[in-house]
Amino acid sequence: MTAVNSAPVVAAENPWRNAQRQFDEASELLGLDPALRVVLREVKRQLIVSFPVKMDDGSVRMFEGYRVQHNMTRGPTKGGIRYHPRVTLDEVKALAMWMTWKCAIAGLPFGGAKGGVIVDPKTLSVGELERLTRRYATEISIVIGPESDIPAPDVNTTPKVMAWIMDTVSMERGFSVPAVVTGKPLSVGGSQGRLAATGRGVMFVAVEACNKLGRSPEGTTVAIQGFGNAGSVAARLMAERGFTICAVSDTGGAIYAPGGLDIAALIAHKARTGSVSAFPGTKRIRDAELLELPVDVLIPAALEHQITSENAGRIQAKLILEAANGPVTPDADAILERRGITVVPDVVANAGGVTVSYFEWVQDLQSFFWDEDEINARLEKVMHRAFQETWEAAQAHHVSLRHGAYFLAIERVAEATMDRGIYP
Ligand code: NAD
Repeated sequence: MTAVNSAPVVAAENPWRNAQRQFDEASELLGLDPALRVVLREVKRQLIVSFPVKMDDGSVRMFEGYRVQHNMTRGPTKGGIRYHPRVTLDEVKALAMWMTWKCAIAGLPFGGAKGGVIVDPKTLSVGELERLTRRYATEISIVIGPESDIPAPDVNTTPKVMAWIMDTVSMERGFSVPAVVTGKPLSVGGSQGRLAATGRGVMFVAVEACNKLGRSPEGTTVAIQGFGNAGSVAARLMAERGFTICAVSDTGGAIYAPGGLDIAALIAHKARTGSVSAFPGTKRIRDAELLELPVDVLIPAALEHQITSENAGRIQAKLILEAANGPVTPDADAILERRGITVVPDVVANAGGVTVSYFEWVQDLQSFFWDEDEINARLEKVMHRAFQETWEAAQAHHVSLRHGAYFLAIERVAEATMDRGIYP
């Protein structure tokens, strides 16, 4: 009998409270104007939808979904859509706020948004998934659009799901609207390099952060929690750069091979079996153990609240790269900082996805497409600048990289807010 990873380490954490706390801490250190604080710590718009879906057996099931727009001062809002049985409004609000900071740090002309539906898509047929997606897209179509709010993939949503959203909105408007969503298949206006963009960005940041800490990829060991879009691509590209990926996990289990995993063979194994578990030549471990392994770099690439005050004292890695959004809680952050562990925050480490989503949106609006080398070169430039500016802000103010990143983001959004003024 194999163990299955399911519950996060601490379920009682509230992501929205944590996101607001991160913002409050940074704006306090920054001495942000109180008027701006009250504006920026709330979300602008929250849409809750309940909608029916016809199931294959003829029954009708109700689902609940959300679309939250945190801030649109710097441009249209942008952020993924998550399908997960434990999605909550507070989680989506936190993810939307983090998108605002991420877009500002990457220098993209977007604000932050996020969407979610409470569903385990693995329990649906393809037809049910399509009907759910099209109905949810219709329900939120009053707030999304190329000039207002542009969704993208997140946990358990794929290019195919994005194509259904693009088609649904296009059918309603009477013409094709490719720029309403990013992360689409290439055939309907997707961008070269989008599928790998988040993981590629993580790889760029891994190389830069190791460089700052005096390490090279060769001889640097890595554990990655989550082997989906973000985690598996980061594993593949980091292995190609010379890192040794020793441990990975997904909802099927965690595996460990101290000498390193053959990532190409592991990706093929997961495609065949549906999970990384039972990959030959590896030791099965618990997901919680993976986080505490004696490796140099730890990459949480699954969900929020994986590193908390409960386990932060036992983390052995010297560098944590947040490929996932919100995997380290504020309490854990403080413990890790005291222990001298460097954390590259989500708003920097996983900004590659939204950066190439921005490129996709620009290409769709122009109906003029770039080749993959150009996309990857532009992505590297954006990630390099975001990481360097974050590092310099942290050094200049003697704060953590998270606070340094928040300083950059908050200053940029605050400047735009002051330039525009508080309406009316
Ligand atoms: P995904 O659905 O492709 O993959 C999620 C992976 O996490 C799967 O392998 C799943 O099995 C695993 N997982 C879930 N719960 C787990 C647990 N408790 N223990 C171990 N593994 C677990 O999703 P994704 O797009 O890779 O997103 C992962 C994280 O990266 C999320 O936090 C998401 O918000 C963030 N992110 C994604 C993108 C993107 O472009 N896809 C961009 C930025 C940030």
